[in-house]
Order: sequence, then structure tokens, then C-alpha cells
Amino acid sequence: MTEDKLLYTGKAKNVYQAQQDDEVLIVYKDQATALNGKKKEILPGKGTLDCQISQLVFNYLIKNGIKTHLVENLSDHKQLVKKTDVFPLEVVLRNITSGSLVRKFQVEEGQRLAEPIIEFYYKSDALDDPFINESQIHALKIADKTELEFIKKMTLKINELLKPFFDQVGFDLVDFKLEYGKYNNEIILVDEFSPDNCRLWNKKDHHSMDKDVFRKHKGDLVETYQAVLQRLQDK
Ligand code: UDP
Repeated sequence: MTEDKLLYTGKAKNVYQAQQDDEVLIVYKDQATALNGKKKEILPGKGTLDCQISQLVFNYLIKNGIKTHLVENLSDHKQLVKKTDVFPLEVVLRNITSGSLVRKFQVEEGQRLAEPIIEFYYKSDALDDPFINESQIHALKIADKTELEFIKKMTLKINELLKPFFDQVGFDLVDFKLEYGKYNNEIILVDEFSPDNCRLWNKKDHHSMDKDVFRKHKGDLVETYQAVLQRLQDK
């Protein structure tokens, strides 16, 4: 398998063309970023931790009927996945108030919401991923109504699967970000699921076990992600 042709280099991953035309290789990097790339640091070991955690989560979702881009986990930092037409959307689901919701509405952090909130952001580093609403998504032809309804339903289903998954190992799933792509006219889950793109709080003390330790200088990111992986592996 060749890694020669780099298709895309992102903040946390490099993407290479795989042998088959419709597949790509994702290689996780040791780089941590926050504030849309304005804060950046190389943290040795981070890439393999993100990848291993994401592999455990994706394997569990696949076992429970969620269609994803994953073809094969090749190593602790490399995955073979289907090449998809990715929707330029970050789909955020929130169970508990935190982050930008707290900043925007000045609500108290840590409040369990009456029902999950789904928000969409337009993926653009240059524009700082602006909030986008459903009618903008339709009118700008980013996704049609049927596609968006499907994405919302799938996001709620993933939430229902992941809440008990993390609860069993002592974490509250506060919020998370997903991305979707289209493969053979079917909408599937792409990207990753790691503490880089979700908030996990220790149920006991509400301690952050996610990228907030890096964003807010609250602790050692690699040690924190190692602890998350350990708990999921011991499950
Ligand atoms: N998130 C992400 N990528 C982004 C923005 C947010 O993965 O570019 C995740 C973030 O880790 C959190 C959730 O989406 O789990 C909600 O983030 P929020 O809107 O609260 O923004 P933040 O406080 O992280 O700026």
C-alpha cells in the first residue's frame, strides 16, 4: 500500500490516496490545535490515542448498525476508509450545557438539557466555522431536506448509543461533533470520534477528560486521553 500521494493535510490528520480509487488512508498526527488552529502544539502520542479511541467508538457504532466510512483499522494510528463527498458541515449535539452554548446564552454550565440540541456549523477555517441554520443549508444547496432530516436522525441515534457506552465507564457525554459524507448515494458517518471532538466529564467530579484540558490549560492532554482509552479498553 502506498502513502505517496498526499491528498489533504488537516489539523489532526493527513489523508493519502489508497490503492483502490474509492478509498483513502487516514494517518493521525500528534498535533493539538484549539481556537480554529490559532493555538497549536505537538504532543507526542496524541495521534495514536485519538485513533485508538476513535476505532473503539466506530467499531461499537458499526456493531450497532451505524454505517461509517471505516473499511479497516490498519494500525494504532492509521485507518483505511471509503472516499466520500463530505458535507461541509460540523454537526454538534449537546446533552449538557457547556462551551459556546454557555458563552452565547450566558446559561449556567453543566445543566442537563430537556432534550438534545443539534446545531450546524459551516466548515471553513477561513470563516471560523460560522453557525448555519437549516434554511441556509437548503438554500445554499449544502444538503437537501431529506438529507438533513437523515443526518439529524442519525445524530440522535448515535447519541442514544454513545450515552450508555460512555456512562458505563464513568463519563457523562456532554456534547460532540460529527461529520457526514456521501458514498454511493448513501449518507455515512466520516471523520473521527475522540476527546478532540467531544466533551466527556467524569461523572464523579465533573472533571474534563477531553480537549478542554488543552484549551483551558487544565491538565496534561496525553495523560488524559490515555486514561480515556484505558477505561474503554477495560470495559
Ligand atoms: N467541536 C469540534 N470542532 C470544532 C468545534 C467544536 O470538534 O471546530 C466540538 C467540541 O469539542 C465540543 C462540541 O463540538 O465537543 C461543541 O463545541 P462548542 O460549540 O461548545 O465550541 P467550543 O467551546 O469548543 O469552542
